[in-house]
Amino acid sequence: MQNTIIQIFKDLYQGEPVLFRAPGRINLLGEHTDYNEGFVLPAAIDREIFFAIRPNETDVCNVYAVDMKEQDSFHLTDPAKSELAWANYIRGTVQQFVKAAYAISGFDLVFGGNIPLGAGLSSSAALECGTATALNEIFELGIPKVSLALMAQKAEHEYAGVKCGIMDQFASIHGKHSNVILLDCRSVSYTYHPIDLTQYTLLLCNTGVKHSLADSEYNTRRQECEQGLQTIRTQYPLVESLRDATSAMVMTLHYQLSTVVFNRCMYVVQENERVQQAVKALANHDLKLFGSLMYQTHAGLSELYEVSCPELDLLVDLTLDRPEVSGSRMMGGGFGGCTLNLVETQHLESLTDFLSESYHRVYGKMPEVYPVKIVDGCNRLI
Ligand code: ADP
Ligand code: MG
Repeated sequence: MQNTIIQIFKDLYQGEPVLFRAPGRINLLGEHTDYNEGFVLPAAIDREIFFAIRPNETDVCNVYAVDMKEQDSFHLTDPAKSELAWANYIRGTVQQFVKAAYAISGFDLVFGGNIPLGAGLSSSAALECGTATALNEIFELGIPKVSLALMAQKAEHEYAGVKCGIMDQFASIHGKHSNVILLDCRSVSYTYHPIDLTQYTLLLCNTGVKHSLADSEYNTRRQECEQGLQTIRTQYPLVESLRDATSAMVMTLHYQLSTVVFNRCMYVVQENERVQQAVKALANHDLKLFGSLMYQTHAGLSELYEVSCPELDLLVDLTLDRPEVSGSRMMGGGFGGCTLNLVETQHLESLTDFLSESYHRVYGKMPEVYPVKIVDGCNRLI
C-alpha cells in the first residue's frame, strides 16, 4: 500500500515525497457521551490512510486520491469548497492553517488507504488529521498535537458540515499502541490505559447498512439531552451538563421528565459511570468485566437511547450464547455501521464463520468482518 502511494506520487509529480500515516479509530466504550461533556474510550486502529507529500514552492495544492482516482487542485488563499466530497476534508484542513496565518506553501499530495468509508471508523478524521500532521511536519510549524486535533475537527465542522465532537480527531492523532485513551470531552484532557489483548482480539462486524434516520435522530438525541439537562438543573443548579448528573439525581426527577427524556438521560449518566468502571477493569486485566460493560452499553443504546437497529441487534444477540465472546456492542452514532466484539483469539475463525453465515441467512448478505489492532496515532514513516 505505502509503496503504491509513493510510486503514484513519483509518476504524477516526480521526485521523492515524505510519507505519513493516519489511523482510523474505534471507541471501546462511552457512546453518545461526547456532546454531554462526558468520557469516551477510543483507540487508533491498524486501518490507515497513507499520505505522500512534498512542498512545491507555489501557492497551489495538488491532491490525488488513489482510492477515488480523482484529482483536486486549489489555491492556498481560495477558501471555496470543492464539488468532490473527499477534497473538502483536505481543503478544510488547509484552510485552518491559512486562517491561523501559519507559514505554509502549496504542496503535491497523493493519498489512499484501507479504512472502510462511512463505516464509523472515522476515515474522514484520518483524512483531516493526516493532512494536518503532514503540514505541521513538512513546514516545521511545531503545532502541539491537541491543537492539530482541534484544527482537524474545525475542518469537519466547516467543510463537511458535520458538527462532530473532538473524539475522532483526537484518537487519530493521539493513539498509542496497545492503549486506550480515556478522554474527558469537557476539558480535552486524557490518560492512556494499557489493554492486555494477549488472548483477545477486537473484531469489527460491519452490518453494511446506514439507515437514513441517523442524522435526524442524532439531532433529536442532542435536543432530548438538553431538555433533560434543563429540568435537572431546576433542582440541581450545579449540574452544567449531563456529565455532572448521577443516576440518583435522574431518578428523583422521574416524574418531571417524560419517559423518553428520562431514558435518554439515564443512559448517558450510566454510560459515563460505565467508562469509569471499564478503566478499572482494564487496570485489573479483567476483560470479562470489560466485555460485560460493552453488553450493558449495547442494551442501553438499544432500549433507552434507541439508536440501534435490527441488523446491529442481531449481530450482538448472536454472540450472547458464545462463551468466546466477552462483549459486543454497536459502535458509533447508530442506525447502522459496525459492532465491536471482544473475542478470544483462538476462536476467532469459528466465530467469524458463525456470524457471517447467521447474518447472511437473515439479511441475504455477508457482513464485512475484520479484526483490528490498537496502534499509534498519526506519524511520519519516511
Ligand atoms: P467515516 O468517517 O465514518 O468513515 P464519513 O462519512 O464521515 O464516514 O467520511 C467518509 C468520507 O471521507 C468519504 O465519503 C470520503 O469523502 C472521505 N474519505 C475517507 N477516506 C478516503 C479515502 N481513502 N479516499 C478518498 N476519500 C476518503
Ligand atoms: Mg467521519
